[in-house]
Amino acid sequence: MELKYEKKDIYSTLNKKEIEQVDVYSKEYMKFLNSSKTERLCVENAVEILNENGFSDISKKRSLKAGDKVYLVNKQKSIFAAVIGKKDLIYGTNIIGSHIDSPRLDLKPMPLYENHDVAVLKTQYYGGIKKYQWMSIPLAMYGVVYNEKGEKIKIAIGDTNDDTTFTIADLLPHLAKDQLKANANEFIDPEKMSVIIGNIKDKEAKDSKVKTTVLKLLNEKYGIKEIDFARAEIEFVPAFDAKFVGIDRSMIGGYGQDDRVCSYANLRAIVDLVKENHTFDKTVISLIVDKEEIGSTGNTSMTSQVFDMFINMLLQKTGSKADRLNVYYNSKMLSADVATAVDPVYDDVSDIQNSNILGSGIALEKYSGSGGKYSSSDANAEFMSEVMKIFNDNKVMYQIGTLGKIGKGGGGTIAYILADKGVDVVDCGTAVLAMHSPYEVSSKFDVYMTYLAYKAFFKS
Ligand SMILES: [Zn+2]
Repeated sequence: MELKYEKKDIYSTLNKKEIEQVDVYSKEYMKFLNSSKTERLCVENAVEILNENGFSDISKKRSLKAGDKVYLVNKQKSIFAAVIGKKDLIYGTNIIGSHIDSPRLDLKPMPLYENHDVAVLKTQYYGGIKKYQWMSIPLAMYGVVYNEKGEKIKIAIGDTNDDTTFTIADLLPHLAKDQLKANANEFIDPEKMSVIIGNIKDKEAKDSKVKTTVLKLLNEKYGIKEIDFARAEIEFVPAFDAKFVGIDRSMIGGYGQDDRVCSYANLRAIVDLVKENHTFDKTVISLIVDKEEIGSTGNTSMTSQVFDMFINMLLQKTGSKADRLNVYYNSKMLSADVATAVDPVYDDVSDIQNSNILGSGIALEKYSGSGGKYSSSDANAEFMSEVMKIFNDNKVMYQIGTLGKIGKGGGGTIAYILADKGVDVVDCGTAVLAMHSPYEVSSKFDVYMTYLAYKAFFKS
C-alpha cells in the first residue's frame, strides 16, 4: 500500500493514441484562442459551437424537458449553457464556471492625439498586468464601435497575415537612465501607454495633420468619426498566435489562456458529452462570465443577478416548484480558473509541496485568497472528498496546489460568489506560467486533463 502522496507526470502514463488525442485537442484549443482574443469573440465562437450541437436560445423555448439543451447570452459578453437533467432542479445542478475576459489594454473614450508627427491612442490597462510586458510588442486592435445612427461596426486589425499591427514604443535603453531608476511597478507610467496608430500628414489639414489622416482612414474603412470612440469598446491584445512551446512541443504558449483554457474545456466538455449521447441525471451548466479580472463587477460579471435570472428561467420552463435558493444549496461547482505553476527559475515564491507542477494534472485548489485566507473561498473537506473521488473514479490526473507562499501576494476567482449563494465550490483549473503576460504558458497535457476533469464532473 502506498502511503505517501507523490505527484505523477501525465505524459509517462499515456499511450501513443492518447498522446495523439492530446495533440488534436491542443490544436483545436489553440485555434479557439487565436480566434477569440476578446470576451465578445469568445461568446460569438461559443454560440457557434453550441448552435452546431443542437443548443438553442432559452428565450425561444416555452418549456424544457430532460435532454433539452439551451443557452443564454448576457449582453454579448457572457454566456450560460445548460443541458436539462432527468431530476428536478431541487436536487441541484453541476456547474462549471469560468471566465473569458483577459488582461489587455482598453482604449480611453477620447483616445486620439498626435505629438511630433506621430498619432497615438491613449489606453487604460484592464486587469492585473506587469505594464512593461506590454511595451514594444505587436498589438492587434479588436472591438465594436457604434456610429451616430446606432449601427454596430466590428473592428479586427492585426491578426491576419498581411494586416498592419500596432505597438507601444518603449524608451530606448540609451536614454532610459532615469526611467530605469524607478521601481518596476512605476517605471512604465500607465498614462504613457499610448498605442502608435499613424505617421502620415494630411496635405489639406491646417493642424493635427497626422490625426486627420488617421481619422480619414477610419472614416473610409469603418464610416466612423472621432466622437464614435465614446460609443466603442476597443481592446488592444498581442498580435501573435498561440503556438507549441519547447523542443518537445509539450507546452502551449499564447495570450488569454487565463481563463480561456478553462472556458474552452468547459464548453467542449458539455458539448462533447451531448455528442456522446450522455444522459444527465442532474442539470449541468457551463457558465462563462466576463469581468473576473477587474473584481467581478458589472452586469456581465458573476456578481450580476443575470445568472439568478437564468436559474429562474430554468425553474419556470421545467415546471419545477423549487425555490432558487434550494437549487443553489444543492448544487456543486468547479470554479474553473487557471492556477499558478511552479516557475523553474522563480520557484522561491512557491511552497513547493503545496504547488502545481507543469504537466502533473489539473490543479485542485482548496482555497485562494491571500495572507490569513482573506477573501478566499475555502472549499469544505466534504466537497474536496467528493471531487477527488470523481477524479479518481474517472482516472483524471489532478494535483493539490495553493497559489504561492503566504504573504507573497494573492488572488481570487469567481468561486466565492457562488459559494456565497450556498453552492459547494472548489477552484479547479489548468496551471500556467507567466499568468497575465502577453504569452502565458501551459502544459498541453494539463490542458487536455482539464477537459477530461470537466467531463467527469458534469457526468457525476
Ligand atoms: Zn482567471
